Amino acid sequence: MISKSGNQAHQNFLKELRELGEKSAFFTDSHAHIHMSPLLEDTDGVIMRASENCVKRIITIGTDINDSVLAMQTAEKYENVFFAAGVHPHEAKGFSGNVSEFSELITHPKCLAIGEIGLDYYYDLSPREIQQNVFRSFLELAVEYKKPVVIHNRDSADDCVAVMDSVIRGRERNGIIHCFSGDITLLRWALDNGFYISYAGPVTYNKSQELRDTLQYVPMDRLLTETDSPYLSPMPFRGKTNEPANTVYNALEISTIKGVNLYETAVQLEENYIQLFKSDVNGL
Ligand SMILES: [Zn+2]
Repeated sequence: MISKSGNQAHQNFLKELRELGEKSAFFTDSHAHIHMSPLLEDTDGVIMRASENCVKRIITIGTDINDSVLAMQTAEKYENVFFAAGVHPHEAKGFSGNVSEFSELITHPKCLAIGEIGLDYYYDLSPREIQQNVFRSFLELAVEYKKPVVIHNRDSADDCVAVMDSVIRGRERNGIIHCFSGDITLLRWALDNGFYISYAGPVTYNKSQELRDTLQYVPMDRLLTETDSPYLSPMPFRGKTNEPANTVYNALEISTIKGVNLYETAVQLEENYIQLFKSDVNGL
């Protein structure tokens, strides 16, 4: 693990990062909310600091219709920012039920995916039946528009699998299990059904050994990483506002566990990104 300053591990990390830059390799933060406060107030700085840490592409993720419009506007402003549009399970109860409201967003040239969508039985901020119905509607939309999905799951893996199995089973490049939290049933289903598994800050936490252990089941060519910023800062910044620049700390943890150096990790994750979002978007 890296501490904030001075130690040998940190020096090695900075050296690896420099090498990465020299070889023009870089990371993508596959899931951030840079159009949300407090990142929104400083998007120029957020993007600059990310770039300094070799994080040169960001997908900013919508959580309801208005938030997805904001995500789109942020993506329009910056060449290396893309977005996803959807209704987060927390927001399911406020959703009009009319998915066609999203068609303009989904067909936008910088919209890479539908999300985040899914189920959250930890907070239960929307009734579960409503969460499931909204989730199903957006999965159907993803099938219609042939888009990958970005899945949020918390304490709801069995129902999450059941809903996905009934709508999107067997699709290739189905999407991303975002901020994977370690459920093996969901992992197995996801790997069998064309998903990429994205690890966020919790993979760096002391108490997350079980989550780290799941990395042994995820092949390098199915991995992604993300910050979920402004939430979930990785070590050594836990408790502070997170931002895309910190993607590298999650990537470093993955590379250490996998026994692959940071450069090769970056190259593989970029290949995964290209495979997942194969599309005709220019400059992707
Ligand atoms: Zn998120």
